[in-house]
Amino acid sequence: MFEKIVPAPPDAILGLTEAYKADPNPNKINLGVGVYKDANGHTPILQAVKRAEERILAQETSKTYLGIDGSPAYAAATRALLFGPEHEVIASGRAVTAQAPGGTGALRVAADFLARTQPGTTVWLSTPTWPNHPNIFRAAGLEVASYPYFDSRTNDVAFEAMLETLRTIPAGDVLVLHACCHNPTGVDLSSAQWAQVAEVVAERGILPLLDFAYQGFAQGLTEDAAGVLALTRPGQELLIANSYSKNFGLYSERVGALTLVAATPDAAQAALSHVKQVIRANYSNPPAHGAAIVTTVLNDAELRRLWEAEVAAMRERINTMRHLFVETLNEKGVQTDFSFIARQRGMFSFSGLTPEQVKALRERYSIYIVGSGRINVAGMTEANMDYLCSAIADVLA
Ligand code: PMP
Repeated sequence: MFEKIVPAPPDAILGLTEAYKADPNPNKINLGVGVYKDANGHTPILQAVKRAEERILAQETSKTYLGIDGSPAYAAATRALLFGPEHEVIASGRAVTAQAPGGTGALRVAADFLARTQPGTTVWLSTPTWPNHPNIFRAAGLEVASYPYFDSRTNDVAFEAMLETLRTIPAGDVLVLHACCHNPTGVDLSSAQWAQVAEVVAERGILPLLDFAYQGFAQGLTEDAAGVLALTRPGQELLIANSYSKNFGLYSERVGALTLVAATPDAAQAALSHVKQVIRANYSNPPAHGAAIVTTVLNDAELRRLWEAEVAAMRERINTMRHLFVETLNEKGVQTDFSFIARQRGMFSFSGLTPEQVKALRERYSIYIVGSGRINVAGMTEANMDYLCSAIADVLA
């Protein structure tokens, strides 16, 4: 049977990392995959994580299974981080949380849950979006559609066009929104725009699904939840798929969660029973270690302070690199206006570099960028900035 199978294409972004690793050029730069790197180009283990792991290793007494929906303490800590500890959806029991293997796992559980409970629903994705979004929803058997999001003339949100499409979405369809640090563009909605989106969502009976993979990377842990909070209105239903891959640096541990907010606590429990069936048939129950780290850090005052400072340091380093990149390109005499890069948020920006320029950067300078021109700003360092900007000046000339 396998003789007839034609090979599938490699993953565009992960394939780039393979090529980067194999490149012998000592000046090579990887601005492809979405992983945070420090000033030395290294993806560190956070100190708060190391210290939590020491405690867990000393104290843990069993490796028995977690429940299907994971650790209750982890679920509670996650809800408190998403909404703030005093929020009505927590006190009322309208919000329920299932631990999941990463943000991707949470999205896939959400997709399977929707396919089971709302068959025939269409999932609306931003143009552009993280390329794995359509894969995940289609794999669950759902239809996907798209709404405009990015205006390449202004390098900002195409908000009017976005709203216009949102006003055509049928009741019961699902609207995927990036809660902050939009991947791949780096442009986010303002508070006023979130409020308008929440209005349209409520009016039309749309179900919002917030993909929250970068909490803390835009403006701050609380500030970045503004979109989530704008949509969490009385009686409003929503789904949140969050990830601790980036803000805890726990990429390989696969730590995320699916949070469901229903109109009533009873409806939330009924929905959770289906989420659990979906998980049971998928991977049975989630891995424990990464979630134990997150729970330990979030619930310990000292470790939490340390973690919050480490998140702030990652965020500030990225923002410093954004400004240095714009300044260094100016110094190199580049005429194209790249000032928008300094205004954007999170690890990613759409650079506006063409596929030809991306190819030239790779072939002539061993600089690896995704074909769309998306750059991971966290791959920039003070040490590689001059080489990077000289190379860009050359391919733009
Ligand atoms: N959503 C978005 C928008 C992302 O960028 C990512 C990570 N690249 C994820 C979800 C998934 O994160 P995880 O690695 O935790 O599965």
